[in-house]
Formats: sequence, structure tokens, C-alpha cells
Amino acid sequence: MGDLTDQQLRRYARQLVVPQIDVEGQLLLRDAHVLIVGVGGLGVPMAQYLAGAGVGHIRIVDDDRIALSNLSRQIAFSERDIGELKVEVLAKRICAANDDISVEPCAARFNQLTAEELLRDIDLVLDGTDSMQARLDIDRATYSRQIPWIMGAAVQISGQWSAFDPERHQGCYHCLIADPGSTETASCAELGILGPVVGLVSLHQAILALRYLVGDDLPWGRLHMLDAWSGGLQTLEILAREECALCRHDTGQH
Ligand SMILES: [Zn+2]
Repeated sequence: MGDLTDQQLRRYARQLVVPQIDVEGQLLLRDAHVLIVGVGGLGVPMAQYLAGAGVGHIRIVDDDRIALSNLSRQIAFSERDIGELKVEVLAKRICAANDDISVEPCAARFNQLTAEELLRDIDLVLDGTDSMQARLDIDRATYSRQIPWIMGAAVQISGQWSAFDPERHQGCYHCLIADPGSTETASCAELGILGPVVGLVSLHQAILALRYLVGDDLPWGRLHMLDAWSGGLQTLEILAREECALCRHDTGQH
């Protein structure tokens, strides 16, 4: 791991003086590889802020094209981008702002078939999907490879996020949605979403990602729930379930 260049020292000057980052953290960010699954209202700000912070290798995956109804919250996109692939446009915007990092656009969907390729060399996965099935796929594929991931979801004025440790010692997404109190059923396409709410969730995910990448320990297995209208935040501990189809099932065999 070499030193920061003069250009990097200038580019990251403001965060290098933040004690939680420092030169050591900046070098860790520079060498990090993250995968962002889905570049909608969550994935776009996450990608932009992680790129801005100097995360060196960012792979983005989404097979969607930009639509007019995206523009209220996917703030990297403009009207002339409508109809273009999200990953292609976002990669261009990010590279225009920071040519010091590498962005790899993948016009695909994350599923059991594509996981092997998409997770190659990845240290951390960030969820920007709007789909429980996609999250179940992320949970399963990252668990078998012992990669941590950070989930995020938002509808209307409510958001939630959670970080899952590589070995799921603190429970997994399968544990979470097996909870009878789990509220996660409908997507924002059905119920609607207020733009800044996904923005807030995505930036909490981005902070957790930066913390993890600089070597900080995360609040694993905790579900953070935000009412963005009132600003109220609640945190629940996820119950790691003995009968979980994913994490407990395997633990019994070790
Ligand atoms: Zn589990």
C-alpha cells in the first residue's frame, strides 16, 4: 500500500483531518472494493458519496433505464438521460467528478446466477434494490462467501437500514423478515416515496460502509427505523433465529 499522491492529499484534504479517517483510513478506502446492487434512489447517492470519499473500486449493478419518475430522487440523472442505462450514466457522472477511482458499470441483475461474477474481489455489498427477493439473494450469496452487506429500504416517509456481519453471528436478513412483526411487504413503486427519505437512508448506509472500510466495528444485526417526517429514530436488535433457513441452519453443522 503506497502513499497518497499530492493530488489525493488535496482532493481528500477535508476528510483527512477527520480523526476517524486520517491518512491510514484514506489508504484503506483507496484499496477497497464495494458492490452496489441497484442504482435507484438509494444506490445513486451511495455511489456518489462513496466515490467522493475515495472508495477506490466501485462496482454498480442494475439493468434498469432512467425514467422521468426517477428524477425526483436519483439526483445524478437529468432529463436528457431518460431512456439510458442507469449504470452507464452514473459511472460517467462519478468518473467526471473523480477520475482517481475506478467504477465498473454492470448492466445486469443480481441473482444466484450472476452472484459469483458480481461478488468477485468484493469486500462489502450495499443494497440499493427495492425488492425483498433481491435482498434474500444478496443475503444468501454474501453469507456463503462471508461478505458483509448493508441493507436499506424506504417507503413514503419511513426508512430502515441494517448491517449484516460476514458470518451472520448477529443474525441475517432471513432472520429479520421471519419476524412476525416485520413490516417489509410492499415496495416504493406501490406505496410511493418522498425523495429525501431515500437520501437519508442511503447516506446512513454510506456512513456505515465508510466505517467498515476504515476498520471500525459496526452495529451488526441492528435494525434502524427512521420516521423521516418527525425525525424519530428507533433501533431494534435482530433476533438470530435457531430455525433460520440461512444462518442458523449452517451453524448447527459446524
Ligand atoms: Zn438468519
